[in-house]
Amino acid sequence: MHRPILLIEDNAQNQYLTRYLLEQHGYVVAVAADGPAGIAAARRLDPVMILLDIQLPRMDGYAVAQALRADAALADTPIVAVTSYAMPGDREKALEAGCTGYVEKPIDPDTFVSVLHDYGLPLAGGDRS
Ligand code: MN
Repeated sequence: MHRPILLIEDNAQNQYLTRYLLEQHGYVVAVAADGPAGIAAARRLDPVMILLDIQLPRMDGYAVAQALRADAALADTPIVAVTSYAMPGDREKALEAGCTGYVEKPIDPDTFVSVLHDYGLPLAGGDRS
């Protein structure tokens, strides 16, 4: 079984669109709808990459990124913030919290996966486990 991409996202439409796009490219996708569930899923699934919404219930994405980075087993897992926040400084805040990269919503279906490769997503089917 290939390791999944973990999507931590509370919006059902964004979950659907992102999952669809990644599955079209051959990836397995696991979804968690809030921060604590996402952290638990990351520890359980050892994902190849974590896509992290910032506006989440219970914990914001910055706190989730910090918690993920505090776990030695996840210290090197690429984490990409995917957020509709477009305020100056948000990218820096995401990187300071431990994210590897930052993608603004709405995602561009033509470039999204390519950008994720730039941030360390392995090719689909490339089983590193
Ligand atoms: Mn959200």
